[in-house]
Amino acid sequence: MTQKPGDDPSQAIRIRRFFIAVAAYILWLLLIIFCYHLGLIRLSIWLACLFYSIFIVFNIVIYVLLRTGLNRKFADPSLTFVQMGAATIGAMFVIYFTDQVRPLMLLIYFMTFIFGVFRFSTRQFFSFALFTLCSYGLVVLALFINHPEKVDTRIEILQLFVFGTVLFWFSIIGSYISSLRNRLSAANRKLGHAITTIEALAIHDDLTQVFNRRHMFQELQRVKSLADRSGIPFSIAIFDLDHFKQVNDTFGHQKGDDVLKKLVQDVARELRDTDMIARYGGEEFIVIMPGTDISGAVECAQRIQKRACGARFAGFPESFQVTISTGITSYQPVESLDEMIYRADSALYRAKANGRNRVEIDFPERSFQKVQKGEVGLVS
Ligand code: GH3
Ligand code: MG
Ligand code: MG
Repeated sequence: MTQKPGDDPSQAIRIRRFFIAVAAYILWLLLIIFCYHLGLIRLSIWLACLFYSIFIVFNIVIYVLLRTGLNRKFADPSLTFVQMGAATIGAMFVIYFTDQVRPLMLLIYFMTFIFGVFRFSTRQFFSFALFTLCSYGLVVLALFINHPEKVDTRIEILQLFVFGTVLFWFSIIGSYISSLRNRLSAANRKLGHAITTIEALAIHDDLTQVFNRRHMFQELQRVKSLADRSGIPFSIAIFDLDHFKQVNDTFGHQKGDDVLKKLVQDVARELRDTDMIARYGGEEFIVIMPGTDISGAVECAQRIQKRACGARFAGFPESFQVTISTGITSYQPVESLDEMIYRADSALYRAKANGRNRVEIDFPERSFQKVQKGEVGLVS
């Protein structure tokens, strides 16, 4: 299947790099054609065609590998090694057929070499420098055997020495740049992780790991906007642990913390994927139920109530039990969130006043009648 480079940023970078390499190849091919016309290259037409065809086929193969994502199966998914190796062999080929301007042609090697900055480690740079130097040594050897009249041994030795020295310095600077690049990407990766952690910390409550109050308001705002636009109902339930101060006083604050954590974990199991639970403050929590009307909210609140009563806590006596009081309401378009929360709060207040461990509703008269008629019940 064809891979869209946009799907994977690394693939997009590899493909961009491939096109930079192709641009470099084309530039050099144009120069080679120019040298050919000046009679500076001993290449027959058919050999030149063969050279060009291999070049085109090779690049098509690389492009197909990158586009299909097959390159990911290789140890070097950027295909830097194979592309640089092929370019170096291509350079060897051109240099072999060049006489007067052979030293000039050595520059082709550097155009290839510079691509190592994208990937090579110091060791790889030096290995590739050695490979490049050997490839040039082979060219000189081949020339020495086939066209001894074209080789001035003293000059060739000097050329090889200078070439080797420059390659050595290129390797040092190249690996330095490469290590800077690696450090930069490592720092970027760390920064990315740090941002993800900070983002998570910014929206979650430290103790219970549910959303914090600030994020809860953002979510409420989002759900309200959706409700205003589309008419989709939503409800909220605010619950508060009953006589929680006694739990702290009897078992200590630390144990009280454990109760909060475990209770929230248990309650969260009763929620739908689209519901959200957040710590409203102290031992008070809010559940946002998008797409849920008041009767759905009552059912959910009852389930939570039951779950809270049945929760068991490690390190507490078997008989230990917590209860919660809950106030629920549904959104009335297009009231403010303050109004809605105020209603849920007063329902919670009533639940406390009416004896705790129960759900109370604060919702306009018409809907309320349904509840009073027993279609949806209160829990006590
Ligand atoms: P009520 O049924 O009226 O809600 O009684 P209550 O004792 O739960 O209410 P009150 O407001 O008197 O006390 C709330 C207690 O919750 C007091 C406070 O120390 C405790 N609390 C609030 N936040 C935390 C917390 O993060 N950890 C612990 N362990 N306790 C907390
Ligand atoms: Mg309480
Ligand atoms: Mg409270």
